[in-house]
Amino acid sequence: MANEARPGAQDAPQLTLNDGSPISTVGFGTFKVDDEIAKDTVLRALDTGYRLIDTARMYGNERGVGAAVRESGISRSDIFVTSKLWNDAQSYDAALAAFEQTFSDLDVAYLDLYLIHWPTPAAGTYVEAWKALEEIAASGQCRSIGVSNFQPEHLDRLAEESGVVPAVNQIEVHPYFAQNDIRVANAERGIVTQAWSPIARGRLLDDQTLWSISAPLDKTPTQVALRWHLQRGDIAIPKSTTPERIIENFDIFDFELSERDMAKIDGLDRNQRLGPHPNEFN
Ligand code: NDP
Repeated sequence: MANEARPGAQDAPQLTLNDGSPISTVGFGTFKVDDEIAKDTVLRALDTGYRLIDTARMYGNERGVGAAVRESGISRSDIFVTSKLWNDAQSYDAALAAFEQTFSDLDVAYLDLYLIHWPTPAAGTYVEAWKALEEIAASGQCRSIGVSNFQPEHLDRLAEESGVVPAVNQIEVHPYFAQNDIRVANAERGIVTQAWSPIARGRLLDDQTLWSISAPLDKTPTQVALRWHLQRGDIAIPKSTTPERIIENFDIFDFELSERDMAKIDGLDRNQRLGPHPNEFN
């Protein structure tokens, strides 16, 4: 897949999901990107070389995101579009109806990935929602299905009560919250880990360890953190509406972290969660 928009720009390496679909290892997050600016922001990301766009019903920007995908001039098959089912629609019928709304607002020929946004264990309906996602995948309207913020016990319950293993589990991961247990649990089940808040929402800028690694490489702490995700085998989906940062966050394919530097970043883990605990968010 050549980068059509910026000749010379490198493409993100790809992984293969457990259903055979290819997926970029660096994507573009759109949480808190207002619908009014979503089209221009996502067009900028696509022009930079991002080919995976992460949205959700809850972000309220599916129209803008879809317009960018349609108007980019890039072949639909070269862009990977993800959206997510919000917590208020986890019954079987509500999930099918919510997907139809997402599908209509994005207005793209198909989605690449649809995720259950949170397990909401108090509601106890994620297996029912998963059955709806299986039907959506069978319809061809969405190529792959997965989950987000699922703990291993939620993955086990899906495995016991359904026949399809999620392709992806999108969870909070950054150098201050390495989530090794869940990453291993995902890998053992053939599920790819996608890291949300991969740059800890901008909190890495003062980190002396990251500076000590990034400065000699002529990179930034943020770029080093994103490279760490890549070398761990996860997919990172950083968000920015700042033009220079959109470019900065994708400019991570021309250097490599040594094993020693990777270990130093592993050592920054302080179990510091930025979002809610999935067992308590309903
Ligand atoms: P990120 O870790 O991607 O950080 C985004 C923040 O960092 C913004 O405030 C941005 O500011 C700032 N920033 C971006 N690039 C840089 C940089 N190079 N240097 C300094 N600051 C920078 O956090 P998100 O929470 O947005 O997570 C990424 C994506 O993951 C989301 O957008 C969404 O798609 C997904 N997500 C999924 C969740 C889930 O439950 N499944 C939960 C949360 C997020 P600015 O925009 O002003 O440049």
